[in-house]
Amino acid sequence: MKYESTRGGLEKITGAEAIIKGIADDKGLYVPVQIPGLPLSIKEMEGMSYQQIAYEIIHAFFDDYTENEMKACIDGAYDSKFEAEEIAPLTEAGGAWFLELYHGKTAAFKDMALSILPYLMTTACRKVGEKDKICILTATSGDTGKAALEGFAKVDGTEIIVFYPENGVSQVQERQMVSQEGENTHVVAIKGNFDDAQTGVKKIFSDDEMKEKLARRGIKLSSANSINIGRLVPQVAYYVYAYVKLVEKGAVKEGEPVNITVPTGNFGNILAAYLAKEMGLPVKKLICASNENKVLTDFIRTGTYDARREFHLTSSPSMDILISSNLERLLFLLSGRDGHNIRNLMESLDREKVYSVSDEIKEGMKDFYGGFCTEEDTAKTIASLWQEEKYLTDTHTAVAYKVYRDYVKETGDETPAIIASTASAYKFAPSVASACGIDDERVKSLTCAGTEPTGFDYVRALEKVTGVKVPSGLKDLDTKPVLHNKVCGKDQMENAVLEALD
Ligand SMILES: *Cc1c(COP(=O)(O)O)cnc(C)c1O
Repeated sequence: MKYESTRGGLEKITGAEAIIKGIADDKGLYVPVQIPGLPLSIKEMEGMSYQQIAYEIIHAFFDDYTENEMKACIDGAYDSKFEAEEIAPLTEAGGAWFLELYHGKTAAFKDMALSILPYLMTTACRKVGEKDKICILTATSGDTGKAALEGFAKVDGTEIIVFYPENGVSQVQERQMVSQEGENTHVVAIKGNFDDAQTGVKKIFSDDEMKEKLARRGIKLSSANSINIGRLVPQVAYYVYAYVKLVEKGAVKEGEPVNITVPTGNFGNILAAYLAKEMGLPVKKLICASNENKVLTDFIRTGTYDARREFHLTSSPSMDILISSNLERLLFLLSGRDGHNIRNLMESLDREKVYSVSDEIKEGMKDFYGGFCTEEDTAKTIASLWQEEKYLTDTHTAVAYKVYRDYVKETGDETPAIIASTASAYKFAPSVASACGIDDERVKSLTCAGTEPTGFDYVRALEKVTGVKVPSGLKDLDTKPVLHNKVCGKDQMENAVLEALD
């Protein structure tokens, strides 16, 4: 299986090479030259463990890895560091199946891919004879940073540098990152917002002088963001796994379709569901759920992607995104792999913050339904799922569930539904507690004896009231020592990288 850039023109490279590079030299994203079919029938996968299904699916995309290499990657990634034995359990609530993707170390779904990416990458380096050290450079609005740090901490031959906006992540997210152990981990706050961090990182990636400086130090940059194909492919596995488990439970008959709803930010997770469908998994609709930053809802409904709008800070911050990078891959596939067309669209997006797609692409988008959820409805949804179903969801998952209910209301389509459940409620405890009617006075009386409650007090209060167990990665986080305290201006990120590496 070879990989090609979404912007055309470049030679085709192996999976291992694409994983090391992260992003193509023409700024395009790598996609497989052909989407493989499901390597086994659903029947053959019945009874298989998560690890076995993940092996089959990931190996179908990265067939340049030997059986032993791929098995070692899977075994290293999906082990007891996940708090659920099934890795990605399904829970039925409110007439849908919640696929819980947050039982990894950092309590967000990013662990599903970032647990295996370091193994895929270091194996790739061995395979292609890469001598340089790989430095992972990542900008984060909260969840990616910690998951990438956990994944790459103490991995030989790698360094990882994470930039986050100084006042742009929650207290829990910040402490998760700055308490990270591992000599090869570096965490830097920047004086700016997430877009500044992201722009700074992109600039470093495309700076030839910087590339040379790093080459002299024997270092190559790579990415752990979802632009890396090594992050996308492992996510396909859990949709196949979920389908097989629904068949085992008797919730669907083999071959019967399901609908999949995904709370969407950068369009990575839902693109993985699309790839699963293209492999042959029986999926009817892909329901793309947005919060008040509803660029994607509008795009799916009109064919015009228009990022010229106000940016909203919401209670589901991992979806506060106006430019969804992975959409580029879908457009490429739907355009009949027309790299020239995609280059034009993306240049238009860079220049004018808007583009419209061809009728051909619009036609292909018919597999998708787009909807969005307001802040008020997010809170109401959390409350009703908790009060009526005793099922505690985080803000992102609540957005997905609400949009799914809207879809059913609008279409009457009662096809069995999978909701991608992307974070533990405790990761966003202040919003979830408030949605459940636990007000600040109650938090104070339960935890901090009248002083101003911290993010950590909300975690404790929510646990006391609901009895739902706090994931171990989030427990007693405020007692963990701060090991990183660097802050830099948004124009000093290059220096910060060199300092970290010297
Ligand atoms: C990253 C993230 C998302 C968005 O996923 P994309 O792949 O970027 O669309 C949704 N929910 C949570 C909790 C996340 O961390």
